[in-house]
Amino acid sequence: LRNLVLVLGDQLDLQAAAFDGFSAEHDAVWMAEVAEESTHVWSSQPRIAVFLAAMRHFARALEAAGRPLHYRRLDANDTQPTLAAQLRADLATLKPQRLLLTRPGDWRVLQALQDAAQAAGVSMELREDRHFFTTPQDFARHAQGRKGLRTEYFYREQRQRFRVLMDGDQPQGGAWNFDAENREAFGPEGPGFDLPQPPHFEPDVVTREVLDLVRRRFADHPGRLDRFAWPLTRAQALQALQAFIHERLPLFGPYQDAIWPGEPWLYHAQLSAALNLKLLTPHEVVAAAEAAVRSGRVPIASGEGFIRQILGWREYVRGIYWTRMPGYAEGNALQAQHDLPAWYWTGDTDMACLRDALKQTLEHGYAHHIQRLMVTGLFALLYGVEPRQVHAWYLSVYVDAVEWVELPNTLGMSQYADGGLMASKPYIATGKYISRQSPLCGSCRYRPDERVGARACPFTTLYWDFLLRHEARFANHPRLALQVRGLARVDEAERARIRAQADALRVP
Ligand code: FAD
Ligand code: SF4
Repeated sequence: LRNLVLVLGDQLDLQAAAFDGFSAEHDAVWMAEVAEESTHVWSSQPRIAVFLAAMRHFARALEAAGRPLHYRRLDANDTQPTLAAQLRADLATLKPQRLLLTRPGDWRVLQALQDAAQAAGVSMELREDRHFFTTPQDFARHAQGRKGLRTEYFYREQRQRFRVLMDGDQPQGGAWNFDAENREAFGPEGPGFDLPQPPHFEPDVVTREVLDLVRRRFADHPGRLDRFAWPLTRAQALQALQAFIHERLPLFGPYQDAIWPGEPWLYHAQLSAALNLKLLTPHEVVAAAEAAVRSGRVPIASGEGFIRQILGWREYVRGIYWTRMPGYAEGNALQAQHDLPAWYWTGDTDMACLRDALKQTLEHGYAHHIQRLMVTGLFALLYGVEPRQVHAWYLSVYVDAVEWVELPNTLGMSQYADGGLMASKPYIATGKYISRQSPLCGSCRYRPDERVGARACPFTTLYWDFLLRHEARFANHPRLALQVRGLARVDEAERARIRAQADALRVP
């Protein structure tokens, strides 16, 4: 055997860089389902099922393409517990001259596979992943010599470099960013009866087999599988993309920050898992959105806002990840030490906003950005949960969670654990923010504008407690000082009440 091409669960593209020069006569493909990838964090059932089902469908695509495949199934008797152990075992029998690997999505996996190859005395060629606009080296060049990193500058560079939404050297529509026109909440009548629902991909026989396996083997893992309908093949992912561009992108911008109970998808793309598994390329997603804007079917504010998430944020967080790992994962700038409340794994809480976001997360493996940032993330930040535990939770529960994207979003953007590298300030707010974005406070036993007393909203109590705890650190912070100055109107007796109420909230 000349080359053995290693394909991981988030590298499911026949055109991946590791396949360049592939010869069915001399080369073969290796894929393995191993328990560790579902247990190193307590992965939810939907997340495990998405990865395994998509892998098994990709195995079929490889066979149809005539590429010889060595595939290890989790339900076989002779599997090893980790990717590295499985690879070592298979190298002993397959004896390839060389291993080919596209850069994985996880620093830990890269180290483990490189070590396994070295131990077996087989050389490994690491190829850059073409499923991104930029490489980690591009990002390092962008970051070099800059005091602070901000997505907005990076994003503008990306627009110019890849000529996206540009008219000559000017941004289309005369501005780089149209957020002032976005971020509305729904009126009291909600998102409307004609809210377009994303396509539902009924599990086929391959997927049903995986769902059974997950129910059996990972029975004690969080989450449910009875509403499982994710796109798992390239054809399904393309169908999901088309449906989004035509039906939901036109209103993506205005409602991207809105929350409505019982409506998980709203006008969001629901494409992150397909993108992260590499069933879609970001280039084709951005091109489809840009074409829709240019044709006049989609307003620029929605199209630009969506493209910024992919061409800007998605690339930016990956750059942070690969240029800062492994130390990045250890960040805890605010020295948060509390344990994650156990109800994050069940949704059993009286707080209506958290209950809604958590139940939906466990049911679908999905929550949209504002639910992740300003409901589950905000609560953990204000409560003072140890960032490592917050990270493990996010990596476990979402079907789109791969460490390169999950870690900077959680540790950096949401928990400020990197001290301000990703986000220019901690995203903190009282319950009033949630009451502006959703009707949830109306059905909650708490009141978002009360910070002490029996009906005080825990977000609001913990917000004031956060400011008290971090007053000295943020008193002169350019973007937070105004919020800290609000403490001037809180006398000592009220401060003591806030602290006592916050402490009581933290008693498990
Ligand atoms: P839409 O809201 O429709 O956005 C379109 C696309 O833009 C997404 O599919 C995604 O590919 C990209 N995107 C949007 N925001 C971001 C962002 N901040 N970083 C990177 N890409 C972005 N995204 C993941 O893909 N995996 C994760 O594990 C993940 N963890 C997160 C954890 C936290 C605490 C936060 C605040 C955000 C996280 N995100 C993560 C980013 C974002 O919330 C999801 O990408 C998005 O909710 C996916 O749903 P969608 O496809 O409907 O996205
Ligand atoms: Fe959430 Fe507070 Fe509103 Fe209840 S009152 S839904 S806890 S923000």
